Amino acid sequence: MSLKYHMPTKVFIGENCIIENKEVFKSLGKKALIVTGARSAKINGSQSDVISALDSVGISYLIFDKVMSNPTIACVYEGAKIARENNVDFIIAIGGGSPMDAGKAIALLAAQDIKEENLFSGVYENKVLPMVYIPTTAGTGSEVTQYSILTNDKAKTKMSIATELIFPTIAFLDAKYTLQLPLTTTINTAVDALSHAVEGMLSIKASFISDTLACESIKMITNCIPKILKSLKNPDIVIDKNTREQLLYASFMAGIVIAQTGTTAVHAMGYSLTYFKDIDHGRANGLLLGEFLKFVEKENPDRIKKILEAMNLNSTEEFINLMDELLGTKENITRDEIDEYSDIAMKTKNISNCIVKPKKEDLIKMYQEVFN
Ligand code: NAP
Ligand code: ZN
Repeated sequence: MSLKYHMPTKVFIGENCIIENKEVFKSLGKKALIVTGARSAKINGSQSDVISALDSVGISYLIFDKVMSNPTIACVYEGAKIARENNVDFIIAIGGGSPMDAGKAIALLAAQDIKEENLFSGVYENKVLPMVYIPTTAGTGSEVTQYSILTNDKAKTKMSIATELIFPTIAFLDAKYTLQLPLTTTINTAVDALSHAVEGMLSIKASFISDTLACESIKMITNCIPKILKSLKNPDIVIDKNTREQLLYASFMAGIVIAQTGTTAVHAMGYSLTYFKDIDHGRANGLLLGEFLKFVEKENPDRIKKILEAMNLNSTEEFINLMDELLGTKENITRDEIDEYSDIAMKTKNISNCIVKPKKEDLIKMYQEVFN
């Protein structure tokens, strides 16, 4: 066996971990650019905790709070311009996957000139600004991955910058920032994390390390699902802090999984649902995941059995029913759209990453099973 395991991010976990470990900011420089979304970081306490920590250790900062969901290439070039013009030493990304992914591209573009046409080339100089990451959703695991996923209008899809250079330097996991996450975002992000753990187990790069983390992540998310369903049936029932912590840690572990394994056909197919239909990233994966399990099961039933066992489920049908319960009414996708999305997905490297490689007709069948 030959295996490489690389996860260089230093991670602090627990309530108030930013304030309690504020000294670590000093090792990164004297001036920071905070990269975040328009609203949530100002409301959930994460931005004020970061600012208190920076103030108390004498680090100055600017705020770039223009990151939208599914960040664009223009957005990260704008952020990088601000970083350069103001000579910032490091980036602090606060938010869901969108600000975290934007932060990585900004850290890279602030440190070196990369033409837009070479942004996804994977060939970069060995220069990047240090990065501090604070996830406020529990889904993407971007705080521990080497991927920055951006909307590329020229390719009409989402594409990833993938390089070990953009592993965040430090991550702070404090579930208190996720307490007020709306239920729909909670579900979509939890399903994204589940999808990372499951896809990690269906990747040709799966190993005993990634499988161990993936199984644990799947079990933790499975334990949280009854609480989420209760809240879905009765919005007065709030999701408790312990459940929020479990979701955040499961998402973090699933992030480590995909940092080692990459994602599969599910993410490749989901990107078009997000790009063309504005379906949330995690929801898109959740809609497709069950059909992909059925597809792989035909050739590799043992792998699927292992995933289902971790979820206490007996069949892929039960898995699909559970996703249906969480995700509700599905969108309409036409036969022509399915054809186009299948073509786009076939061009991604995620397809060759699957332990059972689908052909275009397999993707079409999976989309059709989900949306018809
Ligand atoms: P998101 O797009 O980052 O955020 C979705 C919404 O949630 C935004 O409106 C945001 O508001 C709000 N929000 C964030 N934290 C909140 C909180 N604590 N309380 C209340 N509202 C909050 O969603 P996401 O699902 O976390 O990230 C999706 C993105 O991550 C996609 O672009 C996807 O491609 C990418 N992704 C990356 C990786 C990776 O490895 N790098 C893996 C999977 C997915 P504000 O805008 O006001 O902040
Ligand atoms: Zn994802």
